[in-house]
Amino acid sequence: MSKVIVIGGGAAGMMAAYAAGMCGHKVTLLEKNEKLGKKIYITGKGRCNFTNACNEEDFLKNVVSNPKFLYSAIYTFNSEAMIDFIEMHGTKTKVERGNRAFPESDHASDITKALKNALLEYKVDIQLNTEVKSILVEGDKVTGVELKDKKRISCDAVILCTGGLSYQTTGSTGDGLKWAKSLGLKVTDTRPALVPLNVAEAYVPQMQGLALKNVNLTICDSKKKLYDGFGEMLFTHFGVSGPLVLSASSIIGKKLQSAGKLSATIDLKPALSFEELDARILRDFNDNMNKHLSSVLRGLLPASMVPVFIELLDFDDMRQINSITKEERLAIINLLKVFPFTITGLREYKEAIITQGGISVKDIDPSTMKCKNINGLSVAGEVLDLDAYTGGFNLQIAWSTGYLAGLSIE
Ligand SMILES: Cc1cc2nc3c(=O)[nH]c(=O)nc-3n(C[C@H](O)[C@H](O)[C@H](O)COP(=O)(O)OP(=O)(O)OC[C@H]3O[C@@H](n4cnc5c(N)ncnc54)[C@H](O)[C@@H]3O)c2cc1C
Repeated sequence: MSKVIVIGGGAAGMMAAYAAGMCGHKVTLLEKNEKLGKKIYITGKGRCNFTNACNEEDFLKNVVSNPKFLYSAIYTFNSEAMIDFIEMHGTKTKVERGNRAFPESDHASDITKALKNALLEYKVDIQLNTEVKSILVEGDKVTGVELKDKKRISCDAVILCTGGLSYQTTGSTGDGLKWAKSLGLKVTDTRPALVPLNVAEAYVPQMQGLALKNVNLTICDSKKKLYDGFGEMLFTHFGVSGPLVLSASSIIGKKLQSAGKLSATIDLKPALSFEELDARILRDFNDNMNKHLSSVLRGLLPASMVPVFIELLDFDDMRQINSITKEERLAIINLLKVFPFTITGLREYKEAIITQGGISVKDIDPSTMKCKNINGLSVAGEVLDLDAYTGGFNLQIAWSTGYLAGLSIE
């Protein structure tokens, strides 16, 4: 039996502590907050989309950074195992559209409750309001941790689960990343991900509050297409947000930071080719020859986009349809198919669902989550250079890596 300290009582830490306890180790879980799983309470808009009920292959397809590293972790503890785990510990679950799994009650607190029940089962010693200051290492071996109040606790193994840098008010302030650097581990550059984007053009905030469904978003740098996706997006007072934009941010973030800005376009009518759209508009125009352009555009666009269209086309909105030339009609179609704006940056960590980058997976054994160069140190969860799309995949990364880390302690 080893004496194990788990640092961080978030998703990964609670699961790691449970698995190590199940293997018969003496486990202490140290959490600096006044309660466990503070971030879990705000996940899934308070409902906690705790996993995605898909198979392992589909899970890995939804991981953005380092999916191959997760192979052992997900095959050891997959989403089905997680759903069973939650049910076995007293919380009923349900699966919604897109395989997203939630507690049946729609209360994220019921997920934390199930985890707490699991920790009680193996008598994990939970110490709240306990902030770790550093990990103690002698030679190449972990010997314990030092707390903020200078108290030292010795142990045989430490599992580091301090999370990333997003939503720091929940406790994830990047402590583990700093310790990893000082212990000589490689930490890849971090950036906010699954995050809204700032936009340069003043006409974008004019449409704030407008949600677009079934549109295609394309983002390019000067050389090539970086992102192309179909779905929903939203205009805000600073730029763009919504599911499509959050996914895009995870793909373009690195390039955006180095380039400073990227060009983006929206295809507002992706179901119609340029020619099909032209035929439809010609029909509309023929039926409404004596009407104003703005009233015909209202049949094609959400109302708050119409003034922006008129401004970008540089038309007088009192123009009648019968005065629109062929060239002008083609310019309208072009704007419907290629509505442009410029992305100037990622919003901050405090608005980011996840942190991209972290402790390099090259320094971690993927079959045990143990650090290759420091004996007795394992790492799990968002503190690692792992991130995925929305849909329950990020929490599943925390559960799977936490479980494997706890299970692999000797
Ligand atoms: C608004 C929002 C909504 C989200 N919704 C979803 C969702 O629905 N589905 C999904 O899959 N993912 C979601 N995520 C992502 C998911 O919450 C994270 O991926 C996950 O919580 C990461 O778990 P973790 O245990 O690695 O880190 P965290 O949950 O951040 O836990 C780290 C813990 O370590 C503690 N800690 C840090 N430093 C110290 C220290 N020095 N001493 C002691 N303790 C310390 C912290 O207080 C914290 O409790 C969401 C994230 C956000 C911000």
